[in-house]
Amino acid sequence: MMTQKEYMEQAELDLLHAYNRFKVVLDKGDGVYLYDTDGKKYLDFAAGIAVFALGYNNKEYNDALKGQIDKLIHTSNLFYNVPAIEAAKKVKNATGLDRVFFTNSGTEAIEGAIKLARKYAYNKDGKTDHEIIAMNHSFHGRSLGALSVTGNPHYQEAFKPLIGGIKFAEFNDLESVKALVNEKTCAILLETVQGEGGIYPGTAEFIEGVRKICDENDILMICDEIQCGMGRTGKMFAYQHYNVLPDIVTVAKALGCGVPVGAFVAKENVAAAMVPGDHGTTYGGNPFVCAAVSKVFDIFEKENILENVNKTSLYLEAELDKIVEEFDCVEARRGKGFMQGLVLNVPVGEVVAKCIENGLFVISAGKNVLRFVPPLVITQENVDEMIGILKKVLN
Ligand SMILES: *Cc1c(COP(=O)(O)O)cnc(C)c1O
Repeated sequence: MMTQKEYMEQAELDLLHAYNRFKVVLDKGDGVYLYDTDGKKYLDFAAGIAVFALGYNNKEYNDALKGQIDKLIHTSNLFYNVPAIEAAKKVKNATGLDRVFFTNSGTEAIEGAIKLARKYAYNKDGKTDHEIIAMNHSFHGRSLGALSVTGNPHYQEAFKPLIGGIKFAEFNDLESVKALVNEKTCAILLETVQGEGGIYPGTAEFIEGVRKICDENDILMICDEIQCGMGRTGKMFAYQHYNVLPDIVTVAKALGCGVPVGAFVAKENVAAAMVPGDHGTTYGGNPFVCAAVSKVFDIFEKENILENVNKTSLYLEAELDKIVEEFDCVEARRGKGFMQGLVLNVPVGEVVAKCIENGLFVISAGKNVLRFVPPLVITQENVDEMIGILKKVLN
């Protein structure tokens, strides 16, 4: 076995340098803790970027995956498979929507949602110049369609030309959306709680206002719940905090809790726009990942995950608010449930690095936000441990 340093040197020779990684080689996980290859223990408030909701090494989850490996891993979508049929029913129930298309990632869920919105509009008027309104400071993924609706010029610049027909409004500013609506608009796309952009929850006025604009103009409302969905904010999906039902919802990250799977989910009348030949994927919805999805929903119910989010996040919020009071370098807290951000006026990268040195994983969001997206099973004791390390670092 190599030392961590040797592993990292090897990685820098072999992997495309698309990331500046933290100086840790992870080896295994257990509960809300991760261990590096030297055996050092870390409290995990990042969850692999809001993915590992159930904590690591959950026996029931692991057993379900092992069982499916021995049975059948892949079929292609030329055939039906039982785990996908079971998982789709659970996704429908949880979202309140009607039809599911499984993808391999979040960005592909967004691609599918864009295609579905365009096809729905095309079926109505036969035109091919439809527009989508997306939000500034949004994040929807790195493939070209998803990048085109990501309101971050820095991510886009070198990869132009992007897909056309995209306009950007200000999140939580209804007038800025209204100003962009015209007869070509086919969809309004938003994250119910903006994640990468800096943890901004949508206001009720905005989210419900967008729904109203969509209803009045036969425009589709697309909620990207890839980060804020799957229980993270205390409801199964963040839009369920508001009096709305989107036409299309995108899900990924915690959907499979670590296996690569996403989905776009739509209302019946919208889903009906897609017919055989319009869209496809070789891996998407294979029995292996769908066995994970299905088990994730079972465990959410059995272990009352939402109850823990609603209870323990109140404690997390109160403790983070104390940090805001106590430290001049922390200006504010924003967030919902287990999706929280602290706004810093010191370089957030340095704080993250120091936390890691001290055995705590947190990540950044936007330019100056320290992001907390822990596994949804954390306890008050875990919050106390995190706060202890954070205080030490901020001091
Ligand atoms: C992470 C994320 C994506 C992209 O998902 P990938 O699986 O990385 O492609 C899209 N939208 C939101 C809101 C995200 O947080």
